[in-house]
Amino acid sequence: MEDILHNLEVIRQRIDRACLRSERDRETVKLLMATKTVSSERIKLALQAGENLIGENKVQELKEKYDDLRAIPHQAHFIGHLQSGRIKEVIRYADCIQSIDRWEIAEKLQRRLEYEDKTIDIFMQVNTSYEASKFGVAPTQAIQLAKELKTLDRLQLKGLMTIGLFSSEQEKVRKCFQLLKSIQEQLKENDIQLDDLSMGMSGDLETAIEEGSTIVRVGTAIFGKRIYPDSYYWNEGI
Ligand SMILES: *Cc1c(COP(=O)(O)O)cnc(C)c1O
Repeated sequence: MEDILHNLEVIRQRIDRACLRSERDRETVKLLMATKTVSSERIKLALQAGENLIGENKVQELKEKYDDLRAIPHQAHFIGHLQSGRIKEVIRYADCIQSIDRWEIAEKLQRRLEYEDKTIDIFMQVNTSYEASKFGVAPTQAIQLAKELKTLDRLQLKGLMTIGLFSSEQEKVRKCFQLLKSIQEQLKENDIQLDDLSMGMSGDLETAIEEGSTIVRVGTAIFGKRIYPDSYYWNEGI
């Protein structure tokens, strides 16, 4: 169990160094712990060590851990693929949904939030690697979808999220992050100002920070290897 504390220390140092190297203020980069398949006990250790942000891929897991973790101040983001049958639950258990990637789901979310008289923070997920296996709006459609999302008053669009290319070639991964950054800049020219860029994981967080990430999502490097198929890894959801 103490491996978690050690791993956290290593991750914090990696973030510190990446910020130094890219001359960024350390305060501008948050660590989100990707906690899929991790037990509440292990998540608690990390939260008690001073972290305050987790991300889950399945609504079911978010729900199961909610009671166990609610006594410890933290925020839970939903980072998996969202299906309409799970909207009711996700707005109950998540503080933010990072994976909004299509109008249909956003519109259903808006209706439900109206019904409950609530609002929720969202990010728009962009498929910057153009891989068919990944979710996210196509980069060419991103400006249009962001404009449409802005018309839904119960959804507070805070940023953009992407999963970089799964490759050991950092320069290819970097292209994905640069693309997300450029979409943020194009949106600004369209009067849509988004503060957050959620990008970078265990293997590529330094590159992501160099390219402007404000939230790195780290699982394996904190909690160790998970054992399950890749489809679950890359935000299959449910
Ligand atoms: C699992 C997951 C992460 C973390 O990936 P690691 O390589 O384990 O750090 C980040 N983002 C999403 C959407 C994930 O599903």
